[in-house]
Amino acid sequence: MSVIVKRLLRALGSVLPQNGPKALHEPEFAGNEWAYTKECIDSGWVSSAGKFVDEFEARLARYTGARCAVAVVNGTAALEIAIRLAGARSGEEVIVPALTFVATANAVVHCGALPHFVDSDRATLGLDAQALQAHLGRVAECSGGAWRNRFNGRRLAAIVPMHALGHPADMAAILEVAARYALPVVEDAAESLGSSLGGRHTGTFGLAGTLSFNGNKVVTTGGGGAILSNDEALARHARHLTTTAKQAHPWRFIHDEVGYNYRLPNINAALGCAQMERLPDMLARKRRLAHAYRAQFADAPGIHFIDEPVGSVSNFWLNAVRLDIEDIEERDQIIGALVAGGYHCRPLWTLMHRLPMFRECSRAPLTVAERLEVSVIKLPSSAKLVQN
Ligand SMILES: *Cc1c(COP(=O)(O)O)cnc(C)c1O
Repeated sequence: MSVIVKRLLRALGSVLPQNGPKALHEPEFAGNEWAYTKECIDSGWVSSAGKFVDEFEARLARYTGARCAVAVVNGTAALEIAIRLAGARSGEEVIVPALTFVATANAVVHCGALPHFVDSDRATLGLDAQALQAHLGRVAECSGGAWRNRFNGRRLAAIVPMHALGHPADMAAILEVAARYALPVVEDAAESLGSSLGGRHTGTFGLAGTLSFNGNKVVTTGGGGAILSNDEALARHARHLTTTAKQAHPWRFIHDEVGYNYRLPNINAALGCAQMERLPDMLARKRRLAHAYRAQFADAPGIHFIDEPVGSVSNFWLNAVRLDIEDIEERDQIIGALVAGGYHCRPLWTLMHRLPMFRECSRAPLTVAERLEVSVIKLPSSAKLVQN
């Protein structure tokens, strides 16, 4: 067994409870989840209208400081609508990190556009603003009143940074580059509910931001998502589009554009309201878990704990370490040994440009993302692994 595996097993053994499974991220239902869900069933309000949807949106807006929140069926749908409302159209390109969950790139294609992949920053794991600036300097040209990819003529429509594992990307630097090229920014904050930069919640820096409430996220509604925006007109349009674009009327069916059936059902929102009540407590326990991991790896040779970036607060959705290792085989041997020990450790995502459907997409040099793909391992991070 390698030195790194021994050290990781020792750390996991001392940080995590002895009994029970050590999943990567499990939901925790310890408050009003059952009561609110039962209320939906008892009242018959289980579908896309009901008080919990409005309350969930209000709670999300209050918690994140966004002026508006629109609850939808999942994070991918939230991204699709937000990217579309940012103006991305068929045949255009949207800049996304190659290091992300597939939903970010899929949502771009759902809008008819193409993802254009850029590199990530080693410390934040998020989109690297400097690399982006250097890349756009080579690739972007202004013609016909729009910034285009000079190699294929496609308009550059938007930038979609993602706050990886909950750690905020450097939004100030990203927004500066975006402004230089007049590109709207949509933040994929699916993993970063509870994370902020300079006191401002992730997902509220750009034109819009999106959240996910999938079962493995910090707060879950079973499945769900939300669009955050400070732009009231955009939020109103998002709500309209995601509810079949039906004009408000007590009994007539008039739809004024091709809409989507993306509204979050009330029964899911009920779960979300109960989860939001406990979010501060879950975040506090996740932070304690992160502190315990950090202490374990502080003097471990070849193991680097991925910490919250300077100036930011992370929700520590998933704790992770970067290892001094050379290749995917070594990474997978290590993960295999940890999984065999009962710890559900996982690699980062396979980079988007390696996936068959995105192989032909435009891309920048991805040196850092390729190193991170090989060397980062995610560790069990559920709030329920830490007791009050
Ligand atoms: C979870 C996630 C999403 C959205 O996922 P859904 O399962 O559709 O809610 C989008 N982007 C990232 C980075 C995610 O981790």
